[in-house]
Amino acid sequence: MEQVQLNNLADMRIDEDAISEFRQLSRSFNQMLERLNNAFAAQRQFTGNAAHELRTPLALMQAQLELFSAEHPDVLPETAEFLALLREQTERLTQMTKTLLEMSNLQQVARNERIQLAPMVEEIFTDLAPLAEKRSITLTAEGDGIMTGSDALIYRLIFNLTENAVKYNRPGGSVRVSVTQGLEKLLLRVSDTGCGIPEVYQRSIFQPFFRVDKSRSREYGGAGLGLSLVWEIANLHGGSVWVEESSDKGTTIAVELPAGTESDSLSVDIP
Ligand code: ADP
Repeated sequence: MEQVQLNNLADMRIDEDAISEFRQLSRSFNQMLERLNNAFAAQRQFTGNAAHELRTPLALMQAQLELFSAEHPDVLPETAEFLALLREQTERLTQMTKTLLEMSNLQQVARNERIQLAPMVEEIFTDLAPLAEKRSITLTAEGDGIMTGSDALIYRLIFNLTENAVKYNRPGGSVRVSVTQGLEKLLLRVSDTGCGIPEVYQRSIFQPFFRVDKSRSREYGGAGLGLSLVWEIANLHGGSVWVEESSDKGTTIAVELPAGTESDSLSVDIP
């Protein structure tokens, strides 16, 4: 029972005939697992379908708005402002839909790639350099580690944490990403010099659509999905994520992941 997790429900069935006195209990336990599994699958499918259906009208709206702006360069300033707002918000909706779709598909992603973290962190720093420069934030990396998993998903996990560390930092602040490799576990830490996360919210921030300061978060275009995706990815790889430390001087978010060797078989079959 202690090993039951969202991503391993189907593998947790117990032998119903091992001890005859417990047969009814084992059977009920297995049936409960099945019901939970079906409920979670239905939830994922609904999210996936809804996000998928939203993509087409959104893409159409975006294309039409861009076409209109290109064909009417001399509109009144108020109209131009209105169009820019519409484009910006449609782009936000598109990003949100994309993340929701990704989240509903996570279980199907293969997780058997060998990943070296230091070069990945460097790549993420390059991608985030324009945002960091705009706010005069220095990015530093430390350590290295090797694991087995999905390259794209682990990239996304580190990217989201580093992007948050930049977004919720103070101008002129700094961000440090460190990787410590143990024998069986890898510890990734993302530290910033931002305003911190109040203790009461330190668990809620990993829930979908949760934002501490809605107006500030919206300013950066966030929907509150970044950290819940981080949580799902860590969990899917057999790891976990938590706020290690946070005060008005800054925040450290830690992620523990299994250190991978070639013999690890974390891969899943794509149906
Ligand atoms: P968002 O898209 O709003 O950034 P996230 O899921 O990534 O959504 O984060 C949820 C909320 O947690 C954010 O809106 C922000 O209030 C808070 N948060 C996340 N990372 C940090 C951080 N490094 N420092 C302070 N607050 C943070």
